[in-house]
Amino acid sequence: MSLSNGRPYLAIPGPSVLPDRVVQAMMRPSPNIYQGELVDMTATILPDLKSVARTTGHVAIYIANGHGVWEAALSNVLSRGDKILVLVTGRFGHGWAEMARGLHLDLEVMDFGQQASIDLNQVETRLKADTDHSIKAVLAVHVDTSTSIKNDIAGVRQAMDAAGHPAVLMADCIASMGCDRFEMDAWGADVTIAASQKGLMTPAGLGFVWFNEHAAAAREGADLATRYWDWKPRVSPEMFYQHFAGTPPTHHLFALRSALDMINEEGIEQVWARHETLARTVWAAVEAWGQGGEMRLNMADPAGRGHSVTSIHLGGNDADRLRHWCEEHAGVTLGIGLGREPTSAWFRIGHMGHVNAHMVLGTLSVIDAGLKALQIPHGDGALSAATSVVAGV
Ligand SMILES: *Cc1c(COP(=O)(O)O)cnc(C)c1O
Repeated sequence: MSLSNGRPYLAIPGPSVLPDRVVQAMMRPSPNIYQGELVDMTATILPDLKSVARTTGHVAIYIANGHGVWEAALSNVLSRGDKILVLVTGRFGHGWAEMARGLHLDLEVMDFGQQASIDLNQVETRLKADTDHSIKAVLAVHVDTSTSIKNDIAGVRQAMDAAGHPAVLMADCIASMGCDRFEMDAWGADVTIAASQKGLMTPAGLGFVWFNEHAAAAREGADLATRYWDWKPRVSPEMFYQHFAGTPPTHHLFALRSALDMINEEGIEQVWARHETLARTVWAAVEAWGQGGEMRLNMADPAGRGHSVTSIHLGGNDADRLRHWCEEHAGVTLGIGLGREPTSAWFRIGHMGHVNAHMVLGTLSVIDAGLKALQIPHGDGALSAATSVVAGV
């Protein structure tokens, strides 16, 4: 007998759950890529992508994952040897820094550790000291998926403004777009990146770079820009073909259209509110389990926790044991302790995109069963705490 037979559930922080509607949108023959439905539909995707990021700027689409748009963003703004400041609160900040190093940029990494958000005072002090404005760009990850730490992007902009610093502010919103409130224009991000497979509920393979006029001006002097990654023809193509520097990602575009329809129908504010409540549901359960054992949320301060993923510590190799139990015995796959030492002591729950209360409560119930089955010490009342959040009482 196995209790895992039934629809499997991937509760990892990307790729996220694909809505049936999105999968169905892809079930079609290859379309004409020169005229007709695909071309007309792509034109409708661009304004919707801008509204999801809350910007009136430009958006370029790449056939790429997050790593691809990390590189796209850097190469359109910077020149070989330029100095950049990278603000790191987890594995993904380091990952972006590594991409920058590969492009022969001159990096300064400010590492705030794995249990605190970016310290805005330190950023302001550092930028004030850069009196000749040698720093050309400031990189920050909005929600770092390894630590589930959320950073205050508007606050980074304020620190830059307080220092009178003209650098380009780049935000990695790969784990937060369509999950956590993000206001590109109001918050003052010059470049924003995201990928399709997380809050945007589309298979991995599309990357997005939004940019404003400040970043567009930086593009003019950027010698790292290459033909394929250049965002200029992608945002103002003379022929449809140039949107994607070649054959368009036909089926992904139909999938994305359908995912954006779902976001529009729900309303972005409601999408953000749903993620916020589901995140609080997860936190309530983890806090209750922690009352009688080793389990604890990585990020102590709720204001610094992302709403799309939760990083959890569970001592010894219990996190690994629990993940295996949940997958083998109940059909739920939890996220690995990416970037943590030892990884066997950490796990993550992804709650991004097409996720509702029953999916989160189901996952939490399975974890509760796993803790019992494996005799891992834990506090009582986690499921009751979680359902109270869902019930709104
Ligand atoms: C997933 C993720 C990435 C990397 O994206 P890939 O598509 O795996 O290349 C980068 N940054 C953040 C914050 C992410 O969550």
